[in-house]
Amino acid sequence: IWEEVLKEAKKHCSDDVVSTWIKPLQMVEVRGDLITLQAPNKFYKNWVEEKYLDTLKKIFNEGLSIDADVLIITGDAPKAQAVSQIASPSAAVADYKIPASSNLNRDYIFENFVVGSSNQFSHAACLAVSEGHFQKYNPLFIYGGVGLGKTHLMQAAGNRIMERFPKLKVLYITSETFTNEMIQSLKTKKMDEFRSKYRNIDMLLFDDVQFLAGKQRSTEEFFYTFNTLYESQKQIILTSDKTPSEIPELEERMRSRFAWGLIADIQAPSTEEKAAIIMKRADIMNLKLSDELGIFLAENIKTENIRELIGALVRLSAYASFHNEPLSIALARKSLDKFLVRKDKMVTEENIIDAVTGYFNVKMSDLKSKKRTKSISLPRQVAMYILRSKLNISLQEVGELFGGRDHSTVLHSVQSIEKKCRDDKEIQEIIATLEKSLYS
Ligand code: ADP
Ligand code: MG
Repeated sequence: IWEEVLKEAKKHCSDDVVSTWIKPLQMVEVRGDLITLQAPNKFYKNWVEEKYLDTLKKIFNEGLSIDADVLIITGDAPKAQAVSQIASPSAAVADYKIPASSNLNRDYIFENFVVGSSNQFSHAACLAVSEGHFQKYNPLFIYGGVGLGKTHLMQAAGNRIMERFPKLKVLYITSETFTNEMIQSLKTKKMDEFRSKYRNIDMLLFDDVQFLAGKQRSTEEFFYTFNTLYESQKQIILTSDKTPSEIPELEERMRSRFAWGLIADIQAPSTEEKAAIIMKRADIMNLKLSDELGIFLAENIKTENIRELIGALVRLSAYASFHNEPLSIALARKSLDKFLVRKDKMVTEENIIDAVTGYFNVKMSDLKSKKRTKSISLPRQVAMYILRSKLNISLQEVGELFGGRDHSTVLHSVQSIEKKCRDDKEIQEIIATLEKSLYS
């Protein structure tokens, strides 16, 4: 029935609205006269109640002929669907005018942003702001780690405003540039100009506010800018890598103002979200990437920083075209560890085989042989198990590594270790030690 609701909803609202506001709801109860929907949090509840409750009622009453009232509650709903889309439509490019003075990047738009549970809340908040009701979530404070999409999202809100309300003035600035400009203006005695530039706008996107910490003069100047804009009901979006309370060097009056509006976070992406982002980016770059390769990269590029993730994809594609080879898992496995500046290196087949033969003090030729004594078969099974669990390789490929065993033999070995891992302390120890050695 929920599928039906979503289908009906598409008749009444845009896809954006459906996926951002309706989809995260969960139908928790359907009684004769009352349908209870659960929103992920209070922010969603308020927004949906205010804007889409009537639509929802209509969907149930008319679309589905269920004559019931609709109630929205909040609660710790199970995470909304992790990733909204794996195969995404092609990249969109802004085709409206953006004045250069806004400092907006045309690529940072909602259409190029993959929404998942890690960034759903901030995304929804930015989308809400870009509807143009400025007083509502003001200021909007987005916080999250480096490379998780804060700048992209805040600029998407700015770009959307430019698209919808071309007459409004949007200004994007990092706190560092703000500071530098201020210092320059002080030197050249052009502070009036500086102030009016920042106070005569409708929307200020102030990026990486944490860098103001400890800079008294710029904090002061920003404080007045903030107040002027706030009092004239202009929208302010701020980003930071920490919550306001985690920036103690920032003046208290500043921090308390940040808390007036809405504070939204961005978390590190899950593997599924990483895969979706890679697929989306491949699309934008016009790369042909199979779903399997996307997932392989998401699992093996050990970073939560989306900028690094995209960087690795760019390098892989450059490597492929340089060597004139198609993008494939084999190529990725061969080449990625060279590019990835990471502590936890990528594990290869050789690493695993070396680790296992070293640990058990056996020869690979014995593991390949038909010998079935315990001193040989256990290491062989362990090696197969780790190969399967750490590398994305098929049972068949594993079989080939071990003297051409067939896939059912491999499966049997892997399962027998899996089983032992559950209740055999010794095996648990062995596997743990081996895995640790792979990543050290
Ligand atoms: P932050 O400001 O949090 O450090 P950015 O907004 O600069 O991060 O994002 C880093 C890079 O990752 C940018 O190229 C951005 O377009 C991309 N990116 C981040 N999050 C997403 C996402 N959810 N979907 C698509 N691209 C993303
Ligand atoms: Mg940023």
